[in-house]
Amino acid sequence: MLSQLRRIVQDVAQEPALDNALAGLVSSIKTALATECCSVYLADYQQQHFMLMATDGLNQDAVGKVAIGFSEGLIGWVGQREEPINLAQAHRHPRFRVTPEVSEDRFSAFLGCPIIHHRKVLGVLTIQQSAERVFSEDEESFLVTLGAQLASVLANAEMRDAASQSPSTMAKSGQLSGLPGAPGMAIGEAYVLQPSSDFDAISLKKSDEPEKELALFYRAVKITKAEFNRLAERMAGHIPADALAIFDVYHQLLDAASLGQEIELQIAEGWCAKSALKRVVEKFARQFDDMDDPYLRERGTDIRDLGQRVLNNLLDSEQRKVKLPQQVVLVADNVTATMLAEVPREQLVAIVSLRGSVNSHAAIMARALGIPAVMGVNELPLLHWQNQQVIVDGYEGHILLSPVEAICAEYRRLINEDAELSARYQQEVALPSQSACGKPFKLMVNCGLAIELETSNAEYTDGVGLYRTEFPFIMRNRFPTEQEQVELYQKVLSGYADKAVVMRTLDVGGDKALPYFSIIEENPFLGWRGIRLTLDHPEIFLVQIRAMLKANIGLDNLHILLPMISDLAEVDEAIRLIRQASFEVSDELNIALPKPKIGVMIEVPSIMYQLPELAARVDFCSVGTNDLTQYLLAVDRNNARVANLYDALHPSVLRALHQLSEQARQLQFPISICGELGGEPAGVLVLAAMGYSRFSMNNSNLAKIKWLLRRVKVAELEAILPDVLACQSPKQVKQLVQRFLEQKQLLSQLRA
Ligand code: PEP
Ligand code: MG
Repeated sequence: MLSQLRRIVQDVAQEPALDNALAGLVSSIKTALATECCSVYLADYQQQHFMLMATDGLNQDAVGKVAIGFSEGLIGWVGQREEPINLAQAHRHPRFRVTPEVSEDRFSAFLGCPIIHHRKVLGVLTIQQSAERVFSEDEESFLVTLGAQLASVLANAEMRDAASQSPSTMAKSGQLSGLPGAPGMAIGEAYVLQPSSDFDAISLKKSDEPEKELALFYRAVKITKAEFNRLAERMAGHIPADALAIFDVYHQLLDAASLGQEIELQIAEGWCAKSALKRVVEKFARQFDDMDDPYLRERGTDIRDLGQRVLNNLLDSEQRKVKLPQQVVLVADNVTATMLAEVPREQLVAIVSLRGSVNSHAAIMARALGIPAVMGVNELPLLHWQNQQVIVDGYEGHILLSPVEAICAEYRRLINEDAELSARYQQEVALPSQSACGKPFKLMVNCGLAIELETSNAEYTDGVGLYRTEFPFIMRNRFPTEQEQVELYQKVLSGYADKAVVMRTLDVGGDKALPYFSIIEENPFLGWRGIRLTLDHPEIFLVQIRAMLKANIGLDNLHILLPMISDLAEVDEAIRLIRQASFEVSDELNIALPKPKIGVMIEVPSIMYQLPELAARVDFCSVGTNDLTQYLLAVDRNNARVANLYDALHPSVLRALHQLSEQARQLQFPISICGELGGEPAGVLVLAAMGYSRFSMNNSNLAKIKWLLRRVKVAELEAILPDVLACQSPKQVKQLVQRFLEQKQLLSQLRA
């Protein structure tokens, strides 16, 4: 059953035309369930009806013509109830509607199952039979499972169909929705970067230049064979000789007499090289998948691995051919720091990440660079984006593909308005950071990504509240040496001489992966990350601390911050290692070193309850609201599927933050905010109302936040605090802050 299911879903995913995919789908289901009829209806939300798209059993002439209203008949009922309906005598059911065009009189039994993607009903699958019987539980669960798996494939297929239409049609239908990742709007050309290729992302395409495609394929095979030779040489002596034989097998498979020949035939039939490769690899891999012998089944994996390598090399040559547009909208499955580094800053106008959400690091990086970003736009496969003109609206999380000129003109007007507002904030950037009633605030910057950019406002800030040291680690292909780190840290410390610079020790793991130190875990956010990893690797931790201490000589503005602390023993061990590094450096250079202040990040809920013990051990703490929200709400900050649940303005998060500020005040324990919440207008107002006065944020937000704080009085904020804390949902909190801003006539000036 499982392999049948898998095959049906794969067949649909592989077929380039939606009509053909659905026609194949209904026939496969009919055969798999040995039933008499299977049909699929797709929802049309503009027309408010389900259209019969394919059938094997009903009248073929009705396909594409029979539409059933959302509130009509059994199909409409399945859609409304969003659950399967299983009836022995469908025609007796009060919701049954006679539709003569489909000729279904001979059928009695009916099982309808909704196809739902992201809570939206995309369509209905039905099976019918003449016998008066209720379909079995097995049949029902087969259809439900299939419906669930098909949902994302169909969502993709629909977008694929839309994308292949003319640009003017796309202007009407080509709006994609994602999640707002970084504010701002931009117009540019999509430039797709892929870290590694994925067969799922390849949509099948024909080409009318078979010779060119064949040449591309031969070239990719040549490179792949050379790679295998290198790999085999490197492995020789490390793995048994018989295991090395796999490379010979790969060579043979690529030869003209084997898979190679099949691929050449597909190219001759008109498929482009990538499509030919995908079709052949998937066909053979599936044949092996279905074999009973476990050894032979494994060969399916080998074929996929081999295909993947050839595909990488095919895409590589393709990517090299693509010229970087003037205004780059960087599109990737998951945007990484290294990808950002590949595009010159002056050409990069926006970022679109198919995966991730508002608080994943791609979004944080975009905000740090002041570039609009939309996250989690996974409806359209990666390769469909290449070279399309794109409008990115990072406020709303919308994308417009190939928009008409009138829409572009409207967005250009909005972009200009935005620039005027930014200029207005910038005019006050040199004025003191204080409220309208004179209460001083400390506004610091979060940095680590592009030091030149991040020191540009240095004189108007109160220093660096969070230097994320992992970004320089991520950009390399090995751990940076102690000397490389010293030079890097010196730039930051001297860029902010006389101001505090809070440097966080390496915080990798979770969604921050080092390309050269892979951590594969089932649940990485609850796993080996931050301080847990570095305490297990004192050789990494000590080198980093030594580099920080050396860079601090003569400047004395270093503060060290420990990430992901969940237990006091971790603090004690980290302090011990910092002391050890300090002795070593002092000994090596024969000088007395300045003693940096040490702080702890409050981002794991457990440590919130040990604040007195923490205050007795370290000099300060800094609240990482990004992770604290993720851990308090049990919502992965990187997962677009649950992004609607991730909200730092959730009443529980706000109550936790209030409790923290109260306790820190009683303990006289210096506390600051370095998560994204402190750089957002609603967030900073609520936090200031709680008594927080030190905020570290992206450079691009600082002028706006200063402008805002200078226009409110602390007493006004304190007055709304009880109502904020009594809110029952993030939405209520936002409405409350919005009302406050409206009353103060500030709302319209906060964004375009
Ligand atoms: C946080 O978790 O709020 C934080 C500032 O750290 P990061 O986003 O780097 O995990
Ligand atoms: Mg964090």
